[in-house]
Amino acid sequence: MKLIDLHTHSTASDGTLPPAQVALAAAQAGLSAVALTDHDTTQGLAEFLEAAASSGPELVPGVELSVDRPGGGSMHMVGLWVDHEEPRFKQGLERVQTARKQRNPKIVARLQELGVDITMDEVVAAAGRGQVGRPHFAQVLVDKGVVAGPGEAFGRFLKRGAPAYMEKERLNPSQAMELIRGAGGISVLAHPGLLELHPAALEELVKGLKEQGLMGIEAYYSEHNPATERRLLEMAARLGLAVSGGSDFHGHNKPGIRLGAGKGTLRVPASLLAGLKQARDALSG
Ligand SMILES: [Zn+2]
Ligand SMILES: [Zn+2]
Repeated sequence: MKLIDLHTHSTASDGTLPPAQVALAAAQAGLSAVALTDHDTTQGLAEFLEAAASSGPELVPGVELSVDRPGGGSMHMVGLWVDHEEPRFKQGLERVQTARKQRNPKIVARLQELGVDITMDEVVAAAGRGQVGRPHFAQVLVDKGVVAGPGEAFGRFLKRGAPAYMEKERLNPSQAMELIRGAGGISVLAHPGLLELHPAALEELVKGLKEQGLMGIEAYYSEHNPATERRLLEMAARLGLAVSGGSDFHGHNKPGIRLGAGKGTLRVPASLLAGLKQARDALSG
């Protein structure tokens, strides 16, 4: 059976392989197609697409957007076959990036208002070379003796609802799907199994998203067990959605996940490409 992997990350977001190396690794793994779907950025796509070789896998330009989840929190939407040069799409992603960069200084400012002696430089230092996140704020608070441990840092300051919690600014699902569609791509709900919803609640969510333009769901995923996979395949058939799948490969940042193979048992059939392309072509037709 020919296999594909339509969910991977490169150094353009939080993976460890440069974009061209992802394409190369897919060729070495014998995959028929691979999509690069970095978080909220398409900066790796030009390099990725240039890696195309005549005998290599089909390279699918993609993206993975964090969007608001109805009821709070976030969920992920994968866009496949996006044109990363499309101006409105580019602008949309830039707005997301800017909002993200503004979040951490806002947390610092709020902590200072609360009387905590903390600077952005300290938090950046705590993050080392990684992306700054709340665990790094917690670490600084612990190091300074403001709290006894990270649990207290989250409980008193950083968790949702606590005084220094700042909501991440995210697109709502319909904005995200509109951007993807505007760039010629199709929207796929990423790893629905990770939402940990009751099957009926998940189906309601997916139905609602379909009304706003969702074209597919990621039924095959490294962390879906066989029962979840089967349920999602049945749901896709019931709702008339295309099926996608991928490993969520991050290189060494997710050491247990292999390109095209996930934890070793993932098998995403290449036959899915036909349905996904049909969905894509229906959009432009
Ligand atoms: Zn994701
Ligand atoms: Zn991902």
